[in-house]
Amino acid sequence: MLLLKKVAALQKYLQAQIDYGQSIGFVPTMGALHQGHLSLIKNSKRETDISVCSIFVNPTQFNDSSDLDKYPRTISADIEKLESSECDVLFFPSVDEVYPNEPEPINLDFGYLDQPMEGANRPGHFAGMAQVVKRLLDIVKPHKLFMGQKDYQQAAIVRNMLSQLEMDVKLVVCPIVRENDGLAMSSRNVRLSKTQREMAPLISKTLIYAKSVIETAPIGEIEKEAMKRLTITGMKSEYFEIVDGITLEPVSDVSNSNLIVACTAVNLGDIRLIDNMILLNKN
Ligand code: AMP
Repeated sequence: MLLLKKVAALQKYLQAQIDYGQSIGFVPTMGALHQGHLSLIKNSKRETDISVCSIFVNPTQFNDSSDLDKYPRTISADIEKLESSECDVLFFPSVDEVYPNEPEPINLDFGYLDQPMEGANRPGHFAGMAQVVKRLLDIVKPHKLFMGQKDYQQAAIVRNMLSQLEMDVKLVVCPIVRENDGLAMSSRNVRLSKTQREMAPLISKTLIYAKSVIETAPIGEIEKEAMKRLTITGMKSEYFEIVDGITLEPVSDVSNSNLIVACTAVNLGDIRLIDNMILLNKN
């Protein structure tokens, strides 16, 4: 695997590959890699010739600077994992390399997509996320971009951005990879204490509960019950919303939507975990 830290070196290498007719797949990450990230690399390797993974903890998407400081950084282990996944290129730039000048605001209107859920709870997060994804896409210029369903709202916003900017890159959204007990893999999971780790599978269990009753119980009741199940000593749900999978608007009746998703954010102490599940897909 090639490890490149400079934009110019990366672009020179990728241009040579493109000149040979190779297609480029891109997996942007913030590091602390786990099987969820590696599944994106696997998909990229299956669908494209050269797979580029970036590791960049983007300061502009953290509204809380202590969250940025606490974000796990495990570069040596990440490199080993990427080597064993046969990733072709790791792009590991500094903040100055990504933002040589003051980061330019993205100035796109995502309509309702960035308003609810994570948008309401983490002000500025999606503007920062869109800004860095746009910047990285401008650097890498991949044919395909691989992102996880784990960050459902993020993927919806990126899809919208690609369409608004008419960017010639195909977004491939890959399924959520979970631990054996159902907990969605996340870089933040390593920070859970033993007790918190034992409580955390309640999140996916509650999503499965919602899926089991989506066609029989009123949606408002399911959301209320889910919030109740996710608020126990040491754990507090910020939101549990059942929404349309395309518009992210609340769904009040299953007959009103072809794709219904439940999204949730849960705090265990100062660790914030998100998860989601498609409850109904009529497509
Ligand atoms: P992050 O490093 O957390 O910014 O995540 C980088 C990419 O990996 C994003 O597209 C995430 O949606 C994706 N991802 C994170 N966790 C998982 C998971 N458990 N399963 C699948 N994809 C994931």
